[in-house]
Amino acid sequence: MSLFDQVPTVPLDGTFALMEACRVDAHELKVNLTPGIYRDENAKTWVLPSVKQARAALLADQSLNHDISPQLGYPQLLSAARQLVFKDTLDGRFITSMQTISGTGANHFIASLLSSHLRPRTVWVPNPTWDNHREIWRHVDPGIEQRNYPYYDHETCGIDGDALLSTLKEQANTGDAIILHACAHNPTGVDPSPELWEGIAQMCEEKGIFPIFDLAYQGFATGDADNDASAVRHFTTRSSSGNSSTLEFAVAQSFSKNFGLYSERVGALHVVARTRDGAARVEGMLKRISRAEITSTPAFGARIVAAVLHDPVLKAQWRQDLRTMNGRLGDMRKRLYDGLTRRNTPGSWGHILTDIGMFSMTGLSPEKVAVLKDRFHVYLLPNGRLSVTGLTEGNVEYVAESIYQVVK
Ligand code: PLP
Repeated sequence: MSLFDQVPTVPLDGTFALMEACRVDAHELKVNLTPGIYRDENAKTWVLPSVKQARAALLADQSLNHDISPQLGYPQLLSAARQLVFKDTLDGRFITSMQTISGTGANHFIASLLSSHLRPRTVWVPNPTWDNHREIWRHVDPGIEQRNYPYYDHETCGIDGDALLSTLKEQANTGDAIILHACAHNPTGVDPSPELWEGIAQMCEEKGIFPIFDLAYQGFATGDADNDASAVRHFTTRSSSGNSSTLEFAVAQSFSKNFGLYSERVGALHVVARTRDGAARVEGMLKRISRAEITSTPAFGARIVAAVLHDPVLKAQWRQDLRTMNGRLGDMRKRLYDGLTRRNTPGSWGHILTDIGMFSMTGLSPEKVAVLKDRFHVYLLPNGRLSVTGLTEGNVEYVAESIYQVVK
């Protein structure tokens, strides 16, 4: 007997379980297309050249100490992070920025803040979305209802914008929150058009819904970090009925992917408020949440990101690094598409070329995904999401052939 006998047994996290299954799979042709982690042309984790240089300088600095960071986080990270998201679009707005334990921590902090003070009845998540959105909100507050809003249309492999807007207009209530993927939507690889973004902004403003941008892939939609911030910046600069936008919203920013700093857990939460007082209150409450949960943020990764973004030469290198990653992903998309269409593989594959970021939906059922894994040792998520990051020149033909064999 143990006190813990009453603790429910929790199944393994799906993504981590698949990564582990792939790791111990001894088959020589195995291909891991599950994680949203950029791999290079040898399927190895890539350390960005900009990050390598900043890291070397930090490690060589004998004066570096390990003093605790201020409560809001490492100041140079916060200024650079804010600039990267908003640039100069914040005129007349007040903003609180806090360093977080990567994007997950930023999502968690905003859920905690809203749960304790604004108390949304419902949080709306796109269908489909990153699995952890649900977990985070369930963990923070199981009393807040979670509902899907229509997003991906499996028929067109695009967004069903009309269904998205009409569902929210008809069913969302004032005070609800909505999670929006700022760019390079996970898992679909499809983003709203500028017109749809404006429709979403209008709907949020009219209905009084609080938008939470999840910005985990800045730089992976177009290869350019500024372009990829355009939806967020639109929410700060847009005008409605001749007046400047009054939307208040949050941005959960991650540096895991665009700096390849997955293990360092660097991120930030930004909350845009209408008034100085509102922003100050948010700051106080975020400090309290942070004190209770983490006391202070880790500094090493934050110093790397800050060093890159504050140095024009390193920043130019980083922009080049983003282009390098995107270029390789684009090339792999093309090769996979060619491999599938050359074989006349049943299914629609054109979207593989036009999708953006790390992911595409293959349209494979969970059963077919299981066959792909068991017979061919090719690993996708059960919902059919394929992470392009795991494709290489050496395995892309094998993947195309395996998919063909499974669906023919
Ligand atoms: N948001 C989305 C949509 C993601 O896909 C991820 C990671 O996969 C994250 C947030 C958070 O990642 P991290 O906590 O590593 O920054």
